[in-house]
Parts: sequence; structure tokens; C-alpha cells
Amino acid sequence: MEAAVVPFPENRGPRLAVEFRELNFRYPGGRQALSSITAAIPVGCRLAIVGPSGAGKSTLLLHLNGLLPGQLPTDGTQSAVWIFDQPILPTNLASIRQRVGFVFQDPDDQLFAATVADDVAFGPRQLGCSKAEMTERVAEALAAVGLSHTLNDNPGQLSYGERKRVCLAGVLACRPELIVLDEPSSNLDPRSRRQLRSILDSLSATQIIATHDLDLVLDACDTVWVIDDGRLQAAGPTRRILSDPLLMDRHGLEVPWRLRT
Ligand code: ADP
Repeated sequence: MEAAVVPFPENRGPRLAVEFRELNFRYPGGRQALSSITAAIPVGCRLAIVGPSGAGKSTLLLHLNGLLPGQLPTDGTQSAVWIFDQPILPTNLASIRQRVGFVFQDPDDQLFAATVADDVAFGPRQLGCSKAEMTERVAEALAAVGLSHTLNDNPGQLSYGERKRVCLAGVLACRPELIVLDEPSSNLDPRSRRQLRSILDSLSATQIIATHDLDLVLDACDTVWVIDDGRLQAAGPTRRILSDPLLMDRHGLEVPWRLRT
């Protein structure tokens, strides 16, 4: 097995968006989901996390928002997850969450309001924005995902792809510096996938995407981490990682058609 790689070691160049420092996680009563993850993601990176089902990708993402039971140290021990140079701790969780936008795999886990406008406004309202600013942010976010015309629609009556874009708009309306997306292209038709790619392309925030869609990775990400069995198995530039047939095969993945010679 290829040794786990620490892609951005001590001698940092740019400021870091995320650092995992020897991260281990076991679900209560369950199996070890993450083991000894030590790696960093610079600001501005577009990182893909790939690996077979059950590898630990979603669990790793959930750590970025303090969403897992027992994740946060309460006994004074150091946090294993740092966001923008701050350890995630119970005392600063709220301020860190303001900087991290999380788009879940299933839009129906995220949408709940009677209109698209209300759904997208939820985050800015939580942030304490004035009504005028909320209106401006909602309009801006819906324009960014090409859904300005759905403002007064019921999210339940939109297509699956549109609901996914409303979720993304809800996150964009909070103007996060780091956007985390879990399987953003799953169940999307080709046109919706193209729309997603161009939206992601237009965003300046640091992006972390867990996905099985290696074409999306090729188009949207500059760096890839391969996770398997809860461990970081390899990391590096997108084309180098995805064009390595032995590495791909070892972790239940396939070299995308476009990279096959
Ligand atoms: P992936 O996103 O790569 O498919 P996950 O992070 O969802 O993988 O899962 C990693 C491991 O953690 C798997 O063995 C899975 O069964 C386990 N796991 C995930 N969620 C839970 C949970 N809520 N309770 C217990 N075990 C879980």
C-alpha cells in the first residue's frame, strides 16, 4: 500500500484553509472511520476527495463543521482539525461555521422553507443580516446558480438538479470562505452537471468536494486526495493521481476515459 502523503508539510507557503493533525475518529459503538489523517489544504485550493464507498470521505467532510458526536475536545486536549489557523473547539464553533459552507448530498436534507427565497435567506438571517442585506444576498446567490426566476417557487416543486442548486445558493448567501460539497453531481443529468461545473468554476472560495465523479474532478479540482479504509492513501495534482492506473485500481477507482492512452 502506498504510504499516506502529507501534501503540504511544515514549511507552509500560503495560509491554510484546513489542517488535519493526526485525526482519528470512531463512530460511537462503530468501527474506526478515520485513522491518522495528517494533511493540509491551502487557501484557494480546489480539492477532490475520492475513494470507494465507506472509505471515510463524508466523515472527513463532517469534521469541517464540527458535526460529529464527540468530535470536539472538551478536556483541554488539542483539536485535530484546524480551519483558517484556528482549532475547532466548542468555544469557537459558531464563528468557524460562519466561514464554512456545507452542501449536503441530498438537497431534501437541507431545504425546508415554503419558498426558495426563504430557504436561501435562512443562513443570512442566522448571521443577523438586515432585511435589505438579506434581500441582496438572496438575489446575488440565486443569480450565481442561475435560478433568479425561482425566487417565489416552492422548492419541492423544482427538479432535483434545481433543488441542489438552491442548496448551493443557500450556502453562497452566507458568503463562506470555504465551501464543502458532498457528492454535488450525484443524480444530475448532463446539462445540470455542466451547470454545476460552471458555477463551481465561478466561485473564488476554497472548495472541497467528495465525489465519485472523476470527470467533475478533472474539470473542477486541482488537487486530489485518495481516501480508503479511513486513511489518506495518496495526494497530489489531479492529473497525476487520476492517471495512475495501479493507484486507481488499488482503491476501487478507474482512470477516467479522458486520461486513458
Ligand atoms: P464514504 O463517505 O467514503 O462512503 P463514510 O464516511 O460515510 O464513507 O463512512 C466511513 C465508515 O464509517 C464506514 O465504515 C461507515 O459504515 C461508517 N459510518 C458512517 N456513518 C456512520 C454512523 N452514523 N454510525 C456508525 N458508523 C458510520
